[in-house]
Amino acid sequence: MYNTSKELYSRAVEVMPGGVNSPARAFKSVAEHPLFMDHAKGSRLYDVDGNEFIDYSLSFGPLILGHADEKTVQSVQEAAVKGTSFGAPTELETTMAELVMERVPSIEMIRMVSSGTEATLAALRLARGFTGKNKILKFEGCYHGHSDSLLIKAGSGVATLGLPDSPGVPEGTAKNTITVPYNDKESLQQAFDAFGDDIAAVIMEPVAGNMGVVPPVDGFLEFVREITEQNDALLIFDEVMTGFRVGYHSAQGHFGITPDLTCLGKVIGGGLPVGAFGGKREIMERIAPAGDIYQAGTLSGNPLAMSAGIATLSQLNEDSYKYFIKLADQLEAGLKEVFAKHDTPITINRAGSMIGFFLTEGPVIDFDSANSSDLELFRAMYQALLEEGVYLPPSQFEGMFLSTKHTEADIAQTIQAFDNSLSKVTG
Ligand code: PLP
Repeated sequence: MYNTSKELYSRAVEVMPGGVNSPARAFKSVAEHPLFMDHAKGSRLYDVDGNEFIDYSLSFGPLILGHADEKTVQSVQEAAVKGTSFGAPTELETTMAELVMERVPSIEMIRMVSSGTEATLAALRLARGFTGKNKILKFEGCYHGHSDSLLIKAGSGVATLGLPDSPGVPEGTAKNTITVPYNDKESLQQAFDAFGDDIAAVIMEPVAGNMGVVPPVDGFLEFVREITEQNDALLIFDEVMTGFRVGYHSAQGHFGITPDLTCLGKVIGGGLPVGAFGGKREIMERIAPAGDIYQAGTLSGNPLAMSAGIATLSQLNEDSYKYFIKLADQLEAGLKEVFAKHDTPITINRAGSMIGFFLTEGPVIDFDSANSSDLELFRAMYQALLEEGVYLPPSQFEGMFLSTKHTEADIAQTIQAFDNSLSKVTG
């Protein structure tokens, strides 16, 4: 069923570490080798062996309009013909900035970069430069890319691979990163009591998406906003995943919380390599060349990426998010029914077009409770679901994503696939 993928993997693994260019793709926690893809359209993914899948990974989030969206592809093609990079400004960059800022009013100025990692890395430098303080506070299980100071108690591939920290992160760097459990006001208060004078910023996913999906409990975001303000620390929302996924105005609009800085990526690149950070004008004006804090990129604001992003954001409206909720309601109800039928516990966490399920009674509110999911069962179910034509992100610690191209029929087929898979793996 996956013979060609297996062959390609055996070639790839000789020339690339683990056979992949990013660990989350490696399938380490779900199967022996990843599936190699040939093409994709809408909600469907086709591998090199001709298998068809309903895709809930969507390239780990970016493809909110589904695969190979026609207008996005056309915009990229038109841009490519005009030139792939100029090393000089284009109108596309300003249009992109205006589109983002219209929907996320806390962003008064923005800088485009080429990945989410770059966005968070630069946001931290800016926060440290602006406040003159050294420490950063992050939450356990939140992933903010792979820069040194953020690769500490991170989720995503790091959680999947069981690496609490990575070798190569200098001790001195790690010392400046404080971690506390997500959704835990008391620990956050204690951290500020101990180090408040030297905390430049709190960086957080406003809905955690890299330990599976874990939304903030009532009042948590408000508390983080308050405590950062009281201590003259910046609040950085890492909306690389949640941006334009949790709502039309991103997670911050959905929850009504205004951060000082926001990091974006994924959706705003429409499937091309993009990241961005932005926020209060007073802070952003410290970025070079307007200010003294250095940040740069040869391909930042690349015309192909800007074209894909503009095409993507222009096709989203408030109704898109109502549609996601409708599909997510259908999926949640169906999964709950199926799991009850098979007498198997499930906890479902949701936010807009992000859906997470854990194989545990729950509730799942932080990294420890996320880790209570039955990972053996997840692995077995993952493989059975592939056979049933459903492609989930290949880890318990990644969320499922919906696109505007997913249909109610896709969801119904998915629920049936879960039913069949559970019959196979739980007997
Ligand atoms: N921040 C969050 C919340 C993410 O989910 C990710 C990637 O999954 C990143 C940052 C890093 O983005 P990239 O993989 O584009 O470097």
